[in-house]
Amino acid sequence: MYQYPFYPLPPQPSTIAPQKKLLKDKYEVLQIELGSGTYGKVKLVLDHVDKKKFAIKIISKSYMKQIFATQHILNELNYLQGCKHKNIVEYIEHFEDRDNIYIVLEYCGQGTLEELIKKKQKFTEEEAFHYFYQIAQAILYLHEKDIVHRDIKADNILLQNSNVKVCDFNWSIFLPNGGKAKPCSCGTTQYMPPEVIKKEKHDKGVDIWALGILLYYMLHGELLFRAKQKEELNEKICNKQSIKFNEKVSKECLQLFQQMLAHQRRINIQQVLNSDWVIKMLKGKQSQNSLELTPIKCKSIGQESTRVSIVSDSSRFSNYKFTAKSLYTESPFKQNNLNQGVQHPMIVRSSALDQNNPAFRVEKRYFY
Ligand code: ADP
Repeated sequence: MYQYPFYPLPPQPSTIAPQKKLLKDKYEVLQIELGSGTYGKVKLVLDHVDKKKFAIKIISKSYMKQIFATQHILNELNYLQGCKHKNIVEYIEHFEDRDNIYIVLEYCGQGTLEELIKKKQKFTEEEAFHYFYQIAQAILYLHEKDIVHRDIKADNILLQNSNVKVCDFNWSIFLPNGGKAKPCSCGTTQYMPPEVIKKEKHDKGVDIWALGILLYYMLHGELLFRAKQKEELNEKICNKQSIKFNEKVSKECLQLFQQMLAHQRRINIQQVLNSDWVIKMLKGKQSQNSLELTPIKCKSIGQESTRVSIVSDSSRFSNYKFTAKSLYTESPFKQNNLNQGVQHPMIVRSSALDQNNPAFRVEKRYFY
C-alpha cells in the first residue's frame, strides 16, 4: 500500500487541529456543487449573518483515512492558512464534525481556467498574458516564501471576475535555503518536468515548467505533451524533442518557452517576470489603456537619495504601487572605477519592486 511521504511544513504558526463546530450553525449549504476534488465535494454556502457566498470543501474523514490522505489535507490547510495574496484563494476557516472536515474558502464564481480553455479553444497572446501574469505573481509570492506549489495546472486556477486565484495546495512543499525536495511523483503528469518524471530531486523549477506548459495550453488549446499510455507520455516529457508552436506565437514568447521548458538551467520566476515577452505585453497593455506613466517622487536628504530606476529600456516611468524589497548592492561605478570627479551612486541600499509591473523599480541610493 502506498504511504504518502511526509512534507515539511513552512514555519508559519498554524492550528492544524480543526475546531469543533457545526456546519449548520454558521452556514446554509446550497445544493449547488461547485466541483469535486480528489478528497470530496466543493459546495456553495451562504453565511447566516450577512448572506455572503463562500465555497466549502467537504472532506470525508473515513475516505481520507482509507486513502492515507491525512498528510495531504494537513498540508493544504497549513499552506492555505499561511498565504495571503490577491491571486491565491483566500482561506476563511476550517472545522469538523463526526464525519467530515470542512474548509471554507472565498468563492470564485467563474469556474476554472481549464473550463475556460475548453470553451474558448485558443487564447490570443494578450488573453493568455492576462492569466499568465497573475499566476506568475502568485508563484512569485510563494517562491519568495520558499513554498513550491507543485501542482500548477489549469484545473487549479480558479476565476473570480477574470481575476486568477491559485488553489489546491495538496502537493505544496516548503524548501528553504535553495533546498531540493526528495524524489517523488508529485502533481499531474502532463505538467510534470523531466526531473520529477525521472524521480530525481527537484526544486522551485517545477512550478516554472508547469507555468510554461500552462502558457502553451492557453495559446494552443491543447496540452504540449499528450499520450494514451503513461510510459509514452513520460518519454515525450523527458526527450528533448523539438516543440511545434502555432506560427502566430511571437519570437519573445518562443524565447520564454525555451527558457521555462529548459531541462537544465531553467529560469526562475523573477526572470520570467522580467522576460522580454512579459515586458512587451505589459507595455502593450499600458498603451492600450492609455496609461500615462509619470515619475514618482524624487527626494534628496543629505547624501541619501531616492530615485526611480527603470529595469527595462523604456523611457517612461511607472506610477503604480511598489512593494518593499531590500537590497544591498555595490555600485557598478565603484567596481569599474569610473567615478572620478562625478557624483555617482555608490550603493543601492534598498529597492522596491512594482507590484504590477516588474519592469520598474524604485531604488534608494547613497551617494558619496
Ligand atoms: P482537491 O484539492 O480535492 O482536488 P480542488 O481544490 O482542486 O479539490 O477543488 C475541486 C474543484 O472544486 C475545483 O476544480 C473547482 O471546480 C471547485 N472549487 C474549489 N474551490 C473553489 C472555490 N473557492 N470557489 C469555487 N469553486 C471551487
